[in-house]
Amino acid sequence: MSQTLDLAGIGMTSRRTRMRLVQRLREEGIRNEDVLSVMVETPRHIFLDEALAHRAYEDTALPIGYNQTISQPYIVARMTELILESSPHRVLELGTGSGYQASVLAQLVGEVYSVERIQPLLEKALSRFKRLKLHNVFARHADGGVGWPECAPYDAILMTAAPTEIPLELVCQLKEGGRMILPLGDASQSLTVVTRRGNSYEQKIIEPALFVPFLPGVVR
Ligand code: SAH
Repeated sequence: MSQTLDLAGIGMTSRRTRMRLVQRLREEGIRNEDVLSVMVETPRHIFLDEALAHRAYEDTALPIGYNQTISQPYIVARMTELILESSPHRVLELGTGSGYQASVLAQLVGEVYSVERIQPLLEKALSRFKRLKLHNVFARHADGGVGWPECAPYDAILMTAAPTEIPLELVCQLKEGGRMILPLGDASQSLTVVTRRGNSYEQKIIEPALFVPFLPGVVR
């Protein structure tokens, strides 16, 4: 079962601003109304430091510290829409970051597993999941390059940082027919869907993308 947010103490004044943002996403081609309504309900400003919270409903990526960014709302919507095409139950995210993408997903799928390599970012994200009472998000500090094998296989995998090659270790953690959505490349990246077919996979390019790089190792 997917979850709904506990918005106690968060306030509704920003909801109107989010409705404007979502209208813009619709104009940019986002079609999935479930994704759009979850984005109306999700307070993106709590995923940012106070000094940037007033920019939360601009359709732009914003810094979250440690040289990382919270993804642009358009790309969160687009990736979520692509993930939902196969009606997944168990989803693995690599790159928890602020926790915003995981929180959006948790309202639409059964379980979200998320891995972050930078410990202080992971800790902030965990406190946000707790504040929103999202009990179906499980997150841990590790190098996402090894995935989260103990909880595999996954119906879908989402990478929110860009590797230069398709990580085969992650493809192996997909169920047969499962899909991985990722920004692939370095200077020039493509949002790509990889579908597992037995010991092989199919690859389809969706559109250009711009993400921070997927990096090896962990930061404490
Ligand atoms: N989904 C995030 C986007 C964060 S930006 C959000 O909604 O805010 C990408 C994140 O991927 C960064 O926090 C970065 O530290 C993380 N990352 C990069 N390489 C990684 C790796 N190998 N394993 C886990 N996380 C990684």
